[in-house]
Amino acid sequence: MIIGLDVDDVLLSLMDRWLHEYNEAYDDNLQKHDINAWDTWKFTKPECGKRIYNLLRPEMYDSIEPEPSAAAFVQNIRDRGHTPRYVTACGDPKKLQLHRRFATAKWNALIRHGIAEYGELLLPGKDKSRAPVDMLIDDRAHNCTGFRNGMAVLFTQPWNEWLQDEGKYAHIERADTFTEALALIDYYDD
Ligand SMILES: [Mg+2]
Repeated sequence: MIIGLDVDDVLLSLMDRWLHEYNEAYDDNLQKHDINAWDTWKFTKPECGKRIYNLLRPEMYDSIEPEPSAAAFVQNIRDRGHTPRYVTACGDPKKLQLHRRFATAKWNALIRHGIAEYGELLLPGKDKSRAPVDMLIDDRAHNCTGFRNGMAVLFTQPWNEWLQDEGKYAHIERADTFTEALALIDYYDD
C-alpha cells in the first residue's frame, strides 16, 4: 500500500513550535492541549486573532521537533513493504514561491530528523481528498472525512477529539498512537 502521511502534527510537532512563537510574541501561555478545535486563532488573545497565521513561516521548520518515534514509525511502514508518501499543505497554493519554500523546508526537516529518505515523495497540496495514496493518516478531521481514495486514519490530537462519532464514517478509523496506526495498516493490508 501507499501510505499517505500528513506532516504537520503527525510527523513533525508544528503546534508546539507555533505556540512557542505565539507565546513569545503575545506574552501568553497557550498550550497544545488548550487547542480543542481546528481554528487555532480562536484561542489566542484578541490582539492576536488571525495574526497567528502570520507566524507560520518556512523558517520555523529549521527548529521544529519531530513527534516522538516518528522516524521509527515510518521505518516500520517501510519494513512492512509499504511506501510512505508525505502529503502536506504548504500554505496558499496560489503563492507559488512561498508554497515551494514550505515544501522545501518540510522536506529538509523530515530528512534532518531521519523520517524521510531520499527518493521518497512529498506531495504539497491543500486538498487531500484525492491524494494518490491508499490510506491517509492525518490529524485534521476535515481531511479524513473528505478523503475519497481509501481508508483515512484520524491521528488523535486535541483539535480533533470533538469528532467522537467517527465510526459513522465507514472509511475513518482513529489512532491515538503510532502503534495503533500500524495495527490499522496491518488490518487493512490486503
Ligand atoms: Mg496535520
